[in-house]
Amino acid sequence: MSDGVIHSIESMGLVDGPGIRTVVFLQGCQLRCRYCHNPDTWALCSSKAGRMSPQELVRRLNRFKPYYGHSGGVTFSGGEPLMQKEFLLEVLPLCRAAGIHVCLDTAGCGTGGYEEILSNTDLVLFDVKHYTDEGYRCVTGRERAQSLEFLETAQRMGTPLWIRHVVVPGLTDGAAHLAGLREYLRTLRNVERVELLPYHTLGVPKYETLGIPYPLEGVEPMQAEPLKHWQQIMNEDLEK
Ligand code: SF4
Repeated sequence: MSDGVIHSIESMGLVDGPGIRTVVFLQGCQLRCRYCHNPDTWALCSSKAGRMSPQELVRRLNRFKPYYGHSGGVTFSGGEPLMQKEFLLEVLPLCRAAGIHVCLDTAGCGTGGYEEILSNTDLVLFDVKHYTDEGYRCVTGRERAQSLEFLETAQRMGTPLWIRHVVVPGLTDGAAHLAGLREYLRTLRNVERVELLPYHTLGVPKYETLGIPYPLEGVEPMQAEPLKHWQQIMNEDLEK
């Protein structure tokens, strides 16, 4: 049995998938996104993280089930939830058996087992860090191939996708970048929704606490308003 290493659990999440959801933040991430607001989830093992067996977690989810209604459920987030493959392989089928809708909030950079994981996942919130190899490297400090492997598996299996993209001033903003993103998203299948997320600075104090230099020092938060137009046209593309 594989326990999950859990950073935290949010019981009434409203922004990580449809309906009211329990969001389970798992430890571990190989990426180093310059705008990451959860650097405290990077380490796979942390003295501050809790451990929970798949059965314990599903018992807890069952208690929340009355709040889920028709559309809610559980979202596994992080960190990068795919870093805890063994835990997911045990807990996801248990969620399924309990009739709990499963979302995976991921950048697609884990340690394999994707087909089996996706066969027990209802929806993937897929974080497109960048649509070019060079841009991906610049945003995350890692290569893009891993995330493409996950995405290709999800495409092949027909898993519904909600695409997310963080828009950062000077890094992933501007008309040319967003037009390029739009073209890229047109090449993907099974996309149900696109969400453009404005960069914010709420995670900065965590860097100070951890003693890590903040990579985007001085970059102002992104305004949400200018992104609405782009988000609208990207979602309109999905209807055609
Ligand atoms: S994938 Fe998420 S948790 Fe990992 S570094 Fe990027 S923003 Fe942070």
